[in-house]
Amino acid sequence: MDLLKKEFIFKDVNKLKGVGIQLSKYLKRKKIEKIKDILLNLPYSTTDRSRISDIKDLEVGKIQTIRVFIKKINFPRVRNLPNIVNCEDDTGKIDIVYFNSREGYLRKLFTINKQVVVSGKINFFKNRFQVTNPDYVTNIENESFVTKKIPKYNLTKGINEKKYRFISEQVTNNLPHIEDWLDSNFIKKNNLISWNEAIKRLHHSTDSKNNNSLSYRRLVFDEIFANFLTLSENRKRIKRQKIIKNFENNISNLIIEKLPFMLTQSQIKVLNEINLDLRNSKRMFRIIQGDVGSGKTIVSLLAAINVIESGYQCAFMAPTEILAFQHYKLAKEIFKRLNININFLTGKTEQKNKKEININLKNGKANIIFGTHSLFQKKISFKNLGLVIIDEQHKFGVKQRSELAKKGGRNCDVLLMSATPIPRTMMMSIYGDMDISKITEKPSFRKKIKTLSKPEKKIRELWPFIKKQIKEQNQVFWVCPLIEESKFLDYASAKKKFDIINKIFPGQVGLIHGGLDKDEKNIILKKFLKKEIFILVSTTVIEVGIDFPNANLIIIENANKFGLAQLHQLRGRVGRGEKQAFCILLFKESLSKNAIKRIKILKESNDGFFIAEEDLNLRGYGDITGFQQSGLKTFRFADPIIHKDLFLLAEKYVKTIETKINQKKYNFLLKFFDRAEIINNDEI
Ligand code: ADP
Ligand code: MG
Repeated sequence: MDLLKKEFIFKDVNKLKGVGIQLSKYLKRKKIEKIKDILLNLPYSTTDRSRISDIKDLEVGKIQTIRVFIKKINFPRVRNLPNIVNCEDDTGKIDIVYFNSREGYLRKLFTINKQVVVSGKINFFKNRFQVTNPDYVTNIENESFVTKKIPKYNLTKGINEKKYRFISEQVTNNLPHIEDWLDSNFIKKNNLISWNEAIKRLHHSTDSKNNNSLSYRRLVFDEIFANFLTLSENRKRIKRQKIIKNFENNISNLIIEKLPFMLTQSQIKVLNEINLDLRNSKRMFRIIQGDVGSGKTIVSLLAAINVIESGYQCAFMAPTEILAFQHYKLAKEIFKRLNININFLTGKTEQKNKKEININLKNGKANIIFGTHSLFQKKISFKNLGLVIIDEQHKFGVKQRSELAKKGGRNCDVLLMSATPIPRTMMMSIYGDMDISKITEKPSFRKKIKTLSKPEKKIRELWPFIKKQIKEQNQVFWVCPLIEESKFLDYASAKKKFDIINKIFPGQVGLIHGGLDKDEKNIILKKFLKKEIFILVSTTVIEVGIDFPNANLIIIENANKFGLAQLHQLRGRVGRGEKQAFCILLFKESLSKNAIKRIKILKESNDGFFIAEEDLNLRGYGDITGFQQSGLKTFRFADPIIHKDLFLLAEKYVKTIETKINQKKYNFLLKFFDRAEIINNDEI
């Protein structure tokens, strides 16, 4: 057979021989839709059929290959009885048993006294060897098709090895010749191998079982590289020319003077970086990364006022209504002496008000608007939107980034904020298309949260402590165990805890869980904010971003169920005021070594970046729930821990080719990893 054409492997899998509608459906379940997906579906092992065994040496229960003479074929005339083919070699006898087979088919396959090669799982039944519905039967001339190590793929119902092999070998044995997109020097220097060689080895050796084999590493490198290329291309698209924004810092300086606190050096530095971007002739696409409580909001609002001063509108989007409202209130407060039109819009805003807001956005009377993603409905249009701010950006998913950039129009800058600390290795995978500003300090007055651990059976010792906290007007979060496992169980355990605590502190406790709708949640959160209740029992549903200045104690049950990074995020809900805050981790049983290590890290550090790094090392990235949202799960082969060096290498490589990136050269790679969205035409 000829080598396949490059274009061919991006066609639908039904273009292969033997793939009809039904089989397409089964393959789709294995995420095999295009022909190239067959190459990405790696074997997990091999079946060794290479050795031909004598019947006398057969081992029951194993897959083995034999060469036998056909002696007799029995077709019982009773329904449901199997057809049986009696066979033998020099050393013994064996039956091949067929259920649900047709006589004509078997007669074609077997001729009395002819020799065949049979491969399948060996059984022993009524004193005789048997092989039932063997995987392969072939004549001697073609035995080499069977007598080899055959790759084993994860298959689903409706596809057996033989069938899949018939399909997959059309591709794996006829790989198109690809001109490698990596320099041969680069390949050599970094101990990589060519793409063709790698794919061949992955399907024809045991390489795919070892995620550090040369061929696996090449695949991983390509996967990371494709991802980085996409981001870098995305970045180029976003960072187009815009009209520069003109502003003096007079207004923002005035606001800064009036703040009840001094900005940290970090905040000032980040604000300067943003201001430079705003005045630049390229659009801004920047993320502020700062731990919980590092004071990102005020920085973004100061940027917003500069944009307003320069004659543009701002949109500020937060993932929840309550958070959006909190930001809105803060803006009202700090902009109160300025003549600025500030708006708030959610899905629930009354129709009449909505209309008015819409009109004002269109005619430019509205200077800034706060809201949830409802801000990006089609009907809403701005007169001259100059800045979009997105808080807790990881809640909005990766795809929305370019969407957003489009919505804003040519002159719109984009500022994102996130408190999810990302380990160094993954920075590029997640934020590769953005500029990054880091707020590294926390407001100096803030005391380190004291973190303690306690076995759950000593829960009673907590009551006097909580009583004392409430007496001092401090509020308490009580976070209940289950994470995303079951909404119902989640509710049940929180509810149970609520009942217990409410008996001890009657009327002072609120309950919030995933089963409540938004409005119900908001009512309770507002009660808590207004200090009408002092203890809030919850699952992990409450948002991290909300500022509860009076919450100074958080108790986390079953703390060993959470990852370090998540515990740190939860802990960050308290300690935003000047008082000493506490975090108590409750455990059910005695602690594992790993759990002890984690508590130790939490007790010692309040640094989200350090903690994220440690979390990754301790648990591996597959386990870290927080990263699912951030888009990292898009990697199918690459693992940031195992392949750390390749992440760094790809990052370096992308930077060296960035300026002279020849899109066409990488089209095959990008399509291979389904990154074709950034390719303009269908050319490869
Ligand atoms: P995050 O970075 O988690 O979004 P916020 O912006 O909500 O943090 O700020 C947390 C709290 O810290 C707010 O109450 C805010 O007013 C306060 N804050 C922000 N900057 C400073 C500062 N430089 N000094 C003291 N408090 C600050
Ligand atoms: Mg925030």
